[in-house]
Amino acid sequence: MARKVVIFGATGSVGTSALNVIRRHRDRFNVVGISANANVEKLAAIAGEFAVENVAIGDERALAGRERLFSGGTNFFCGESGLCELASLAEMDSVLMAIVGTAGIGPTMAAIGSKKTVLLASKEVLVVAGKFICEHARKNGVPLLPIDSEHNGIFQCLRGGDAAHVDRLVLTASGGPFRSFSAEDMKNVSVEQALRHPTWAMGKKITIDSATMANKGLEVMEARWLFDVPGERIDVLIHPESIVHAMVRFCDGSVVAQMCPTNMEFPIAHCLFYPERCPSAPQTVDFAAQKSLNFFNPSTERFPSLSLARQCLNSANNACAVFQGANSVAVEKFLDGKIKFPQIWEIVAETLNTYDGEAMVSVESCMESVAKAVKIAKTIAVRMEKF
Ligand code: NDP
Repeated sequence: MARKVVIFGATGSVGTSALNVIRRHRDRFNVVGISANANVEKLAAIAGEFAVENVAIGDERALAGRERLFSGGTNFFCGESGLCELASLAEMDSVLMAIVGTAGIGPTMAAIGSKKTVLLASKEVLVVAGKFICEHARKNGVPLLPIDSEHNGIFQCLRGGDAAHVDRLVLTASGGPFRSFSAEDMKNVSVEQALRHPTWAMGKKITIDSATMANKGLEVMEARWLFDVPGERIDVLIHPESIVHAMVRFCDGSVVAQMCPTNMEFPIAHCLFYPERCPSAPQTVDFAAQKSLNFFNPSTERFPSLSLARQCLNSANNACAVFQGANSVAVEKFLDGKIKFPQIWEIVAETLNTYDGEAMVSVESCMESVAKAVKIAKTIAVRMEKF
C-alpha cells in the first residue's frame, strides 16, 4: 500500500528533491498534504501535479483571493495553528519536515504527538529544541529519521553496530567556497561568491551557513540530540570531495563510513523507504573516476562559527537557541548586503557575550531565547551597518 506523506516546505530545495524522489515512485507514496510560507503559485502547481487535497500556508495573507489556483475541494490550513493541524492529519503516516527556521518546531511536536513518523530535514528544530523533540519522540515511540545528509549518514552507519559501542561520530564538511581563503581575503567576499557552494545546491540560508561553517556547528548540535552523544565526542573533518558524509568510530577502533554523491535525493529516498531500501538510484559514486578522497581538520581561527557552536553546547543554558537566533539575523543582514561576511560570526559572538540563554526547561523557553537573541543581534547589526 502507498505510504501517505505530508511534505512541509514543499516549495523549497529539500521539498523539491523529495517530490523528485516521489515522482519516480508514484506507486509507493501518496502526497496527502503540502505546505509553504507564501509561494502560493508553486504550491498550487505541486498540488495539481500530485493531486494533493490538504494545503497549508504559513503566511495566510499570501493565499487571500488565490484559492481558485487550487482544485475545488482542497482543504486549506493557515498560519502557525494550521501547520500544526496539517501535521496531525488522521489519514497520513509520515511527515517530511523541510521548513527553514524555527517555524518547523510546532508542527514537528504536533506530528510526534499524533504518532506520525517524522522525516526531519529542518535543522533549526533540533538546534533550538532538540532535547524536547527527542524526549517527545522517545515517549511517543515515534521514529525520527534524519534527512540532513551527515546525520542520515550517521544513522546508516549505526545500522552496522550497536549505539552502546559508539566511540566517536564524525561529520564531514566540504569547507564551502572559502575553504582556502585567508581571514583577510574573507573580509570582502560578495553575496554571490558566498552563494556559490562548491559541491551542494541548497537554499540560500544553509548555503551561507556552509560558507561560514556555522552549518557544521548547527550539525554538531543536531547530532548531539539525535544520537545522544556529547559534543566533545562529535568530530568535524573537512572533506572537499563531499563523498563521505559521515563516519562512526566504534570502541574496537573500526570505522564505518557512509558515502553517496552530493544529491539530497539519496538521504531523502533513504528516509522515505526506511526500513526498506529505495530500489533505484539516479547515479552513484564512481571510485575509479574519483581517484582520491581527502580529509583534514577545519581551521577554527579562520572559521570561528564552529568554536562558537561548541561553546554553546558546553553551556548549561539553551545557548544553542541564542546561536540560532543571532546567526539567522546575521545571515539575513549579509544577504541584504548590509554587513560584511566576517561580521556574521562577529554578531553571533557578541550576542553570546551579552546573553547566554536560559535554563533548558521547555520548548517555549527555548523559543523565547531565540526571540531575545534576535532582538540583541538586530541591535548589534544596526550598529555595525553604520561603519
Ligand atoms: P528553502 O529556503 O529552499 O525552503 C524553505 C521552505 O520552508 C519553503 O517551502 C518555504 O516556503 C518554507 N517556509 C519558510 N518559512 C516558513 C514559515 N515561517 N512557515 C512555513 N513555511 C516556511 O530551504 P531548504 O529546502 O534549503 O532547507 C529546508 C530545511 O532543511 C532547513 O532547515 C535546512 O537547514 C535543512 N536542510 C537543507 C538541505 C538542502 O540541501 N537544502 C540539506 C540539509 C538540511 P516559501 O517557498 O513559501 O518561502
